[in-house]
Amino acid sequence: MADFDYDLFVIGAGSGGVRAARVAASHGAKVAIAEEYRIGGTCVIRGCVPKKLLVYGSHFAEDLEDAENYGWSFENAKFDWNRLRDHVLGDVDRLNGLYEKTLESHGVERIMERAVVNGSNTVKLSSGREISAKYILVAVGGWPFVPEFEGSEHCITSNEVFHLDELPKRVVIAGAGYIALEFAGILNALGSHVTVVNRSNVILRGYDESLRDRLLQITMSRGIEYKFHCPFQKVVKREDGAFDVHLEGQDPIIADQILVATGRRPKTDGLGLETAGIELGENGEIPVDEYSRTSCDSIYAVGDVTDRIQLTPVAIREGQAFADTVFGDKPSTVDYDCVPSAVFSQPPLAGVGLTEGEARNTYGNIKVYSSDFRPMKNVFARRQERGLYKLIVEVPTEKVLGLHMIGPDAPEILQAAAIAVKAGLTKQDFDNTVALHPSMAEELVLMR
Ligand code: NDP
Repeated sequence: MADFDYDLFVIGAGSGGVRAARVAASHGAKVAIAEEYRIGGTCVIRGCVPKKLLVYGSHFAEDLEDAENYGWSFENAKFDWNRLRDHVLGDVDRLNGLYEKTLESHGVERIMERAVVNGSNTVKLSSGREISAKYILVAVGGWPFVPEFEGSEHCITSNEVFHLDELPKRVVIAGAGYIALEFAGILNALGSHVTVVNRSNVILRGYDESLRDRLLQITMSRGIEYKFHCPFQKVVKREDGAFDVHLEGQDPIIADQILVATGRRPKTDGLGLETAGIELGENGEIPVDEYSRTSCDSIYAVGDVTDRIQLTPVAIREGQAFADTVFGDKPSTVDYDCVPSAVFSQPPLAGVGLTEGEARNTYGNIKVYSSDFRPMKNVFARRQERGLYKLIVEVPTEKVLGLHMIGPDAPEILQAAAIAVKAGLTKQDFDNTVALHPSMAEELVLMR
């Protein structure tokens, strides 16, 4: 066997890369990991974690409003964006430190430089140093995709939104996917006027239609504006520092910030994969087999760079399976069936399994049970917003094919219920479980 500097060289210290590096090291491998920005990757540094903290922070607006009917009054309640922002960024630093410690305690060498592939068993650092490794794992993640239009340099993406100097009064958000809807909720709750602009006429493509309609209705009633079938034409900076956003077939909209959230693409530009004979897919993704192996036997790839399911827990599982397969003598693959997901919009929505549309297309004969209810907490607070839960079942077995929920705490509730869906339980199994009263989750076992 040829001599290599390392058994494993990981490029990218995000969720997938860190898990793979740590587990490979615990299997006895000599491991190094290169990161050009900060250990932790998108999820920890500029994604899920800081976003969720902003969701919590902004949710106090609703809580304070509802508190009145619960007997509380808050005179002069004030919000300070800089305080929240700095506290969130401080927590990101804390987690970044924890990730660094994890790598250290597992004996993984950290190299804080950009690394690119330079042949089947070699990586090249930005300093010019070349390192050899028996295996290379590419886990560089994705990057916000910004469509081409004049003035796009004036827009921000989810990379910058966590660092805003001030809360914008007027925000235009391009796209109507996860990031757009989550930030629309955060900024709207914090007092910004938000306009969501999408190229198509849907929000959250891929989620169950009734839930999307419910979210649209509730967020509109909360003051978020939507413009559909409106591709961006150009953005022009005004003398007062604001921007005119020109859309096809519409009057321009004035905005203080423009957030582009039109998808994320694998970050494979200039990564040198061609030096190992690896051809990229249509979106720049690295094609891999079920073991996350590329067309080059010594190079693997996990996480968003492979464009399978762009979710942190999936990347983590892929990293774990890779390390167990290659270094743990335990061939493992990831099961992509029934992966639950959630959008932390306000209210949030969550789903697992097939949507009603998908189930109908796949099975033809299906049945839908639902519960359309006003949570007790909302009734008391005189908040009109209703929750909606849907259970999609196969006929005649009544096996649950999908579960979809919108309403307070939907992601928290769905995670537990997803176990039942993944286990292949039936509507009868749900009904056999006694309701936990009074709760919103009890609707799960009371659907008609
Ligand atoms: P999404 O894929 O969710 O949404 C992209 C949006 O941009 C859609 O509304 C789409 O329109 C529109 N769009 C796509 N391409 C173009 C284009 N060329 N021009 C104009 N508009 C376009 O992407 P996000 O950026 O919101 O998020 C990226 C990924 O990050 C998600 O797919 C998700 O996997 C992950 N993520 C997960 C979160 C979670 O789990 N809670 C939170 C945030 C991100 P159309 O209506 O035509 O589809």
